[in-house]
Amino acid sequence: MIIDFHTHTFPEDLAPRAIAKLAASARSLHYLDGTRESLRRSMREAGVDYSILLPVVTRPGQQEEINRIAVETNQCADDTGLLSFGGIHPENEDYRKILRDLAENGVKGIKIHPVFQRVAIDDIRFQRILDCASENGLIVLTHAGYDIGFPGEDYASVERIEKVLDIVKPEKFVLAHMGGWQAWDQVEQRIAGRNVWLDTAFSLLPIQPAPGTVRRPEEDPPLSGAQFLGMVRKHGADRILFGTDSPWSGQKEMIAAIRESGLDAAEQQAVLGGNGAGLLSLS
Ligand SMILES: [Zn+2]
Repeated sequence: MIIDFHTHTFPEDLAPRAIAKLAASARSLHYLDGTRESLRRSMREAGVDYSILLPVVTRPGQQEEINRIAVETNQCADDTGLLSFGGIHPENEDYRKILRDLAENGVKGIKIHPVFQRVAIDDIRFQRILDCASENGLIVLTHAGYDIGFPGEDYASVERIEKVLDIVKPEKFVLAHMGGWQAWDQVEQRIAGRNVWLDTAFSLLPIQPAPGTVRRPEEDPPLSGAQFLGMVRKHGADRILFGTDSPWSGQKEMIAAIRESGLDAAEQQAVLGGNGAGLLSLS
């Protein structure tokens, strides 16, 4: 089974604008048009069984509709292969109710994005959310490290994540982008081996520039193959989750990268889907 643990889609009417805006700020190619239909086509072509949709609540209040759509989406997951996480904003004072409702409605986890949400991951409000998510058996997937659209901002830095691990000890915590985008030396030294999962999204392949934009090859270089292997072996291949950040990477291309990474067959199987199925309790 292949599970892409990190994907994004947008409501059909918003997709063109959302994609254009994000592509411009990141100067990064979008492989798909941001709709579910295009993701499902990509999944069929790449042989992906499930894609985890990760909506981000950028304004408190948005979570209501996002979470309603997540529950609806998951009702058809057996047919579509699309399984959505819910969302929450750190300023949601009723976070206990929001998380309990998600868990009761069978949603497996939530996505948080400290950079987009403008609140640091070690803020007490995120600590409470993480703690409450553990109580409800929910997975929390966070953006980790720098963000391509907000250069230098440290809301999800490795130091802050380390602090959260020490204080909160979350049970099912996934750090996107191999633990910290563009902070991989620190992740290798300080996070590898701890009780977290790392997803591979947007980290292993060079970023392809959006049409009409320029990227110097030395700008935001990808995680090297050698460092990836070293990190997987130090952290444990059983805690690495295949993710693409689709539409910002191609699913087919990322699967090929994992196949060619030097991981052995059992490790590849675990990373590409086995670990994700276990974490999501999929049979
Ligand atoms: Zn993402």
